[in-house]
Amino acid sequence: MATAPNSSVVRLAERTLLLSVDFEDWHQLVRRRAGDPGWAQPGPALARQTDVTLSLLDSLGVRCTFFVLGMSGRSHPELVRTIAAAGHEIACHGDQHLPVHVQTADEFAADLGAARSTIEQITGVQPVGYRAPAFSILRAQAPWAYPALVREGFAYDASECDSFVIRDRIAPATVSPHPIAGSDLWEYPVAVWRAGRLRLPVGGASYWSFTPTPIVLRGLRQVGAGGGLYLHPHELDSQPLRPMLGTGVTVARRRQAWLRTGRRNVARLRAADTLRAIAAEHRLITYGEAHAQLSTRVPART
Ligand SMILES: [Zn+2]
Repeated sequence: MATAPNSSVVRLAERTLLLSVDFEDWHQLVRRRAGDPGWAQPGPALARQTDVTLSLLDSLGVRCTFFVLGMSGRSHPELVRTIAAAGHEIACHGDQHLPVHVQTADEFAADLGAARSTIEQITGVQPVGYRAPAFSILRAQAPWAYPALVREGFAYDASECDSFVIRDRIAPATVSPHPIAGSDLWEYPVAVWRAGRLRLPVGGASYWSFTPTPIVLRGLRQVGAGGGLYLHPHELDSQPLRPMLGTGVTVARRRQAWLRTGRRNVARLRAADTLRAIAAEHRLITYGEAHAQLSTRVPART
C-alpha cells in the first residue's frame, strides 16, 4: 500500500541528551589570542587531554560527537583517527576558530571548506554536523552562514546558545531541536534552562564550574529531551593548564592569558564529576544519532 510522508516527526525518548566535545588545542588558541608568534606550534597537552576524555566516555559507556577544529585536526591527525576508531561521531568546528560574524561570506565558505576537507582526508568520512566557534552563528550580521553550510553538505548545526555571555546574539524561539526555517538544516541548541527571564546555560562545562550540580540536573530536566551538552578536552584533564607563552608577548597580554587560564582551571575541577552525575540520570547520545531520529519523517498510515 502506498505511503506518503507527513509532517509528524519522531521525538527523542525522555531523559535523552546530546553529548559533544569541541576538539581544539587550547594552547594554540590561548597563545594566538595573546599574540605569541609561535602560537601555531601544536600544544603539549592535547594528546593527554584526549586520552583522558576518551577514557571517561568509555567508563560511562557513551559515544559522543567531536566537533573537530580543522587546524587542530591537521596538527593531531592521529588523535582524530583514534577518536573516530572509538566509535564517536566526527563533526566540524570550522578551521581557524574565527567567529562567524567577523568573516565575510567568502571567508566563511573557505574556512568551512578547509575544515571539511581536512576531516575527510583524516577520517575518510564527510562531516554532516557543524558548530560555530564561540557559538557565533546566530547573528544578524551573518545571514549567509546557513546557506553556506548546506552548500558544503552539512545536515545540522549545533551553534545556538542562548547565553548571557554571547553579546548581540539573536535569542532563539526555542531551545529544543528544530528545523531551521527556510533551510534544509536542523538546529540542535545548547541546553539552556529558561525560567522566567532567567537564562542558565546548563549544557556547558564552563557554566558547571559556578552552578551547583543539583541545579544543573534540575535545569536539564526542565530543558527536556534533546538538550545539547558540550565540553572541551582540557576541561576533563586533571593536569592544570599553563599558557606557556613565548617571549615577545606583552606583559598586558600575558596577564590576560593567565587570568583566562585561572578561570579555565576552576572550570576544569568539576567538569568530570558533573558529567558523571548527568550520565547517571540521562541517556547520552551523539548529535548524529539524534538527527537520524528527528529528521526522519514518519510515513502516514494508510
Ligand atoms: Zn571552540
